[in-house]
Amino acid sequence: MFSRRLFLSSVGAGAATTALTAPSIIRAQSLFREFPFSLGIASGEPSADGFVIWTRIAPEPLDAHGGMGMAPLPVQWEVASDDRFTTIVARGEAIARPELAHSVHVEVTGLEADRPYWYRFTAGGERSFRGQARTLPRAEADVARLKFGVAGCQNYEDGYYGAYRHLAREEGLAFVYHYGDYIYEYRGSPTGASWWSGGINVPVREVIGQVCMDVGDYRLRYAQAKMDVDLQRAHAAHTFVTSYDDHEIANNWVQDIDPGGADPAIFAMRRAGAFQAWYEHMPVRLSSLPRGGVVGHYRALRYGKLAEIDILNTRLYRTDQPCGDGFKPRCDGVDDAQAAVLGAEQEAWLTRNLIRNQAQWNCLAQQIMMMSLDRRRRPEEPARVMNLDSWAGYEVPRQRMLARMEGLNNVVVLTGDEHQNFAGLLTHRDQIVGAEFVATSISSGGDGSDLRSGSDVFLTNNPEVKFINDQRGYLTCEVTPDAWATHFNVVDRVSSSNNQLSRRATATVANGAPGIVIS
Ligand code: FE
Ligand code: CA
Repeated sequence: MFSRRLFLSSVGAGAATTALTAPSIIRAQSLFREFPFSLGIASGEPSADGFVIWTRIAPEPLDAHGGMGMAPLPVQWEVASDDRFTTIVARGEAIARPELAHSVHVEVTGLEADRPYWYRFTAGGERSFRGQARTLPRAEADVARLKFGVAGCQNYEDGYYGAYRHLAREEGLAFVYHYGDYIYEYRGSPTGASWWSGGINVPVREVIGQVCMDVGDYRLRYAQAKMDVDLQRAHAAHTFVTSYDDHEIANNWVQDIDPGGADPAIFAMRRAGAFQAWYEHMPVRLSSLPRGGVVGHYRALRYGKLAEIDILNTRLYRTDQPCGDGFKPRCDGVDDAQAAVLGAEQEAWLTRNLIRNQAQWNCLAQQIMMMSLDRRRRPEEPARVMNLDSWAGYEVPRQRMLARMEGLNNVVVLTGDEHQNFAGLLTHRDQIVGAEFVATSISSGGDGSDLRSGSDVFLTNNPEVKFINDQRGYLTCEVTPDAWATHFNVVDRVSSSNNQLSRRATATVANGAPGIVIS
């Protein structure tokens, strides 16, 4: 179970110092019987003059409402220009409201561009540990280099978050893009059969509760995940830019369509609860507060003249998967001219961004694979098999998107969802129009191995794929005006909390030269 002493001693020197120097009288005056910042702190949504800082007051994180009464609570926050908090550059008070699970989302502004800051919270006589956050360079700035992380897919039951411990130690990251599947709504049954192998299902660690259906269920799922110290370390170290994918709500949902078959009006109620809990636990802006039960956001992030990163939403505006979804041979629905992945408004917005083409690199940070790959792994399978929950199931909007990339010579697509690493080429009319880097998972899928069985068949059938790997980990991207390098960082296991990190490969795209070099 959760131990405050263990937690404090493992979060780093800063937190330990805070604990040691905090006079015991403060403990005696605390409103709380237990540490109220049990779910950590986070920063997110960086801009050139600020970012969001987040926490949630939850002294009993696994109890209903985090162990809080139904009253608003003032929470004080401070942002400093140094890690000892000698120079406080912004401070204020936010109200943690019971309607939002006593979470606070502070939009800090008026800061200097392109530098680190440190932040912390106090509430009821207790102080959080400190976090580091970074502002972005101004849009017009000449920037020599961008380094950032890419992570997601963190099924709690499939493994420990040791990859996050390594990500937390990465130096010089401007931000971390999280592609979603922060929680998984379902649970494995320890006495049931594994759906992929048919063997007995033995979770590495178990989630509390059943399949998430209402806001309380989803809150509990986030609380349990956020008690993980390695995840807290990653949030304390880096500023996150957060998407959601399917499992924040339900496996392979799109729009108001429940793969489980509930009526759309009924599914919309479940989805509203899921989105509320998502908002309550993510370091996002007030503009991402659910309206009418949905978080509709997509947005762009500018990193000087070097990169524009369009953060897409590939779930909410997408039409239903063709052919009943799944991994299947092609069916007529794949060529449906009315099908949409982004929806008309988001697609028009993205098109405008790409036509303006203001930065050296255009990056689409999104959720589902854009390459249309043949998923067969056995030579005897007769027909091409597609992942119908990816862009491959939506050939008309996919071709439209690829056509828009043509001639830009600077498009990099970042993707999650697959629980495997891929580096591959995006092509249109036999021309290379971009590179796609698919990030594996933090834990989803378990330990894995370097290559899944049948990888030789897979690589033969998909010559556009230049690299595959089936271990857990995260990406780091190092971007200069001359080249985009994506590092595939993998851990040897997630079935134990101790693991080893290694750099499995680096995939490099040279500016203006189509193609990927693997090293
Ligand atoms: Fe996932
Ligand atoms: Ca997913």
